[in-house]
Amino acid sequence: MPIRYYSTNRNNFFFEENISFREALFRGIAKDKGLYMPDLIPTFSRKELDNLKTIALYYHEIAFKVLRKFLHEDIKDEKLSEIIKEAYDFEVPFEHAKEDAYILRLDKGPTASFKDFAARFMARIMNELKGGEDITILVATSGDTGSAVGEAYKGLNGFNVYILYPKDEVSNIQKRQLDCIGGNVKSISIDGKFDDCQKLVKSAFMDKDLAKLNLTSSNSINIGRVLPQICYYFYAYAILDFEELVFSIPSGNFGNALGCEMARRMGLPVSKIIIATNENDEFPRFLGTGLYKKIMPSKSCLSNAMNVGNPSNLARFFDLYGGHLDEEGNIMRLPDVEEMRKRFFSISIDDCLTLKTIKDTYERFGLILEPHGAVAFAALNEYLRSNKAKAVSLETADPAKFPEIIQKELGFSPKIPKSLELILNKNCHSEILSNNYQELKEYLLSNR
Ligand SMILES: *Cc1c(COP(=O)(O)O)cnc(C)c1O
Repeated sequence: MPIRYYSTNRNNFFFEENISFREALFRGIAKDKGLYMPDLIPTFSRKELDNLKTIALYYHEIAFKVLRKFLHEDIKDEKLSEIIKEAYDFEVPFEHAKEDAYILRLDKGPTASFKDFAARFMARIMNELKGGEDITILVATSGDTGSAVGEAYKGLNGFNVYILYPKDEVSNIQKRQLDCIGGNVKSISIDGKFDDCQKLVKSAFMDKDLAKLNLTSSNSINIGRVLPQICYYFYAYAILDFEELVFSIPSGNFGNALGCEMARRMGLPVSKIIIATNENDEFPRFLGTGLYKKIMPSKSCLSNAMNVGNPSNLARFFDLYGGHLDEEGNIMRLPDVEEMRKRFFSISIDDCLTLKTIKDTYERFGLILEPHGAVAFAALNEYLRSNKAKAVSLETADPAKFPEIIQKELGFSPKIPKSLELILNKNCHSEILSNNYQELKEYLLSNR
């Protein structure tokens, strides 16, 4: 039986039956506004896990073994393997920090953040499964998502991509990353805030006049972005000689952490998932008290991709633990909090400790972390104070994306990866629109 996908809101009023991966991929969000989840989580046998360790495998080979478990009914092995190999043509290195603790660097993709892992797979799988009609991807970004998505769809026939970003809220490097993609990927700088961009995108999705554009979203709630984020946890297990691991994950919308939870449910021996947040501490608080209060507006911390006061993927965590969180962040049914406490260790790291961790980690181990990775590593250090474990802490962005912070803490500027070097001296074009839906609508329609 193929895996089907249901909505976390499970609202039968909409008469939406459990649907195929392909449908879930192109719908993005369910009619009842819930998030899609697989009705079955496939597993690895003991023997399959052992095989991952004994046969030396490339990252793309591991990713194939994992993704095939979900997708073998939807796409032929040969094709899937080809897509994955093409998507993951960059290195996924480990750095040794101390004793049994490693840093897994997920920042070597073309846009230098871990968002490349999800976006590159999703673009290719959409390209493979799409019908004959052209598709318009509309996405609002505060930075990393937009460039990863834009880069992933660049040059794909039949896809028109529009990325909306807040004019004054992205860094210099991020602006160039967004504007310099070109071709079928257009960047639109909005005279407004990130929330305004998101509202504009939402209005476009509800506008019947735009139906002919075949609008699709590709933000982090799409199931096509969740699945590829399971793979690197298996990769860590395959590469490192540990029987059981702890992962520390810098978390904003909790998509990355969800990947780890899914990997654990697939049979990966993960003894603890450390969910590290910045000062947006709604989840660590929830785990402590059982009460959930979203943070509105979210706090602005240095790890800016994690400035999230109501993580979108939390609804999926609640669902996996027998609870129900609706799309507004209201608890409709409490999950098994006791069980969650056994599986997760969650802690909020403030900006002060984030900076101190960047400095300390360089001085003690010679490793350069940026704010997101530093939040995860600081959380791991807290955990290791009273626990012994073999651990992997994730670094999700290249320090070169935060040159001022690195310069200030470490006294030198970080090495710029080739992918960023190319755009650094370029000035590229973006469309500048006011924060006005009518204007965006006319622009989208005139671009057909
Ligand atoms: C998006 C992002 C995160 C947060 O990931 P989630 O899956 O939203 O929890 C962490 N670090 C960086 C650099 C990011 O771009």
